[in-house]
This record gives sequence, C-alpha cells and structure tokens, in this order.
Amino acid sequence: MENDPIEELLLRAYPNPERKGCPGPEVIRALASKAVPPEDAAWEHIWKCSPCFAEFKELRDARRRNERAVRRKRNIYSAAAAAIILVCIGAALAAFFLNRPRAVRQQGAIAEKPAKTPAYPAAVLNLEGVSTTRSAEKNTGRGPVQIQTLPRRAVDLTVYLPRGSEDGQYQLEFLNGRDEVLLSSTAQAVIARGLTEFSTPLDLTKFASGTYTVRSRRLPDGAWRVSSISVQ
Ligand SMILES: [Zn+2]
Repeated sequence: MENDPIEELLLRAYPNPERKGCPGPEVIRALASKAVPPEDAAWEHIWKCSPCFAEFKELRDARRRNERAVRRKRNIYSAAAAAIILVCIGAALAAFFLNRPRAVRQQGAIAEKPAKTPAYPAAVLNLEGVSTTRSAEKNTGRGPVQIQTLPRRAVDLTVYLPRGSEDGQYQLEFLNGRDEVLLSSTAQAVIARGLTEFSTPLDLTKFASGTYTVRSRRLPDGAWRVSSISVQ
C-alpha cells in the first residue's frame, strides 16, 4: 500500500537469497511494531536486505492500516459523541425557549395579582363633632344626627376626628349592643389640612348587619368619642 519510491527501490536493491545475516522473523516483527530502539543494529540490516525489508514493510503496513482503522473508529465515536452532545444542547435550548414564554406569563400573572387585588376599598368614619360621653350619645335623638354606614367587608377606614384633636396614637373600637368590644384597632393620627385623621384597615365581614357603637380615644388616656354606626 505504501508507494514510496525509495521503499520500492529497497525492495529490489538488495537481494539476499541466502539470507545472510538476517535477524529472523521475530526481530523483523519487533522492528515493525516499533519495539526496537532506533540504534539497534537490526535497523541497519533491513535497509540493506531486500527480503528482510519486504517482511518488515508488510508487517509495518499492516500495523499502520490497523492504527488508521482504530483512529477512524475513534473519530467516528468522537463525532457521534459530539453529535449527541449537540442534540442534547439543542433539546435543552429548545426546552428552555419553549418554556420561557410560559414562565414569563406566570411571572406576569404573579406580578399582576397585587394589581388585581387592590388595597381595601376606602371608607370614611366621621367622628367630628361627636360627643365624648355615652349619655350625650343617647341624646342624639334630639339632634339631626344621621347614622353613618360602613359596608360589611374589609375596608381601609379613615377616621376624621374633631377639629383640634391632637395627633398621636389613637384607639378605635366597635362594640355591640351589650357593650362588648367586637373589634379594636390602633393607628397613628396625623393632622392634615387642619383635620386630625387616622387610617386603619378593618375587617367587618363577620359583623351582622345592624347598628353598633364605635368609639375612639387618644392613647393612653384620652376621653372616648362615641358614635353609632350602621354596618350593612
Ligand atoms: Zn535480511
């Protein structure tokens, strides 16, 4: 298979029909399989003995063919492995990009949620001009007092206190007809545009429809301002 002109020449240049000085097939095989160091005298011989060189060349070419086949097979395996890796990467990328819109959509849904459930609806309770005693409250029948109404639901309640009320921590309570406190909340009152007010979230969903007493005082020991409230 090797068509090296020098080797072609070596195959004919040194006929040695009597095989004088030939090292024998074992050494030739060792030479062909590169098991003999280059300084070995056997090398010198095969370059000057055509029959030995022919044996050597045949064995060496067979070894080279074998090595080439092994290399080719290894390359095929490497190519196959590379192809498999590429397919895996492709599949992973495809999965990633196909799933991404869904993930983005889910994120969007999560992000939208707070917007879809806004803060509690605002409600207002006006305690301006409300008396500080229960007896006075009972006298409300005399005046044109209209009972304020709050919805039976969770609300963000803003309470307006009488003008001149101090800011600070305030307590707000809802009581039933037996003066039992059903709900109590504290909040920080501020003075804005001349009005003293505080806001607090309240959940009135468990209240039965009806009239309740609502009262508020400045902590720690302010006088209660009492009013009636209708929860519907
Ligand atoms: Zn020889």
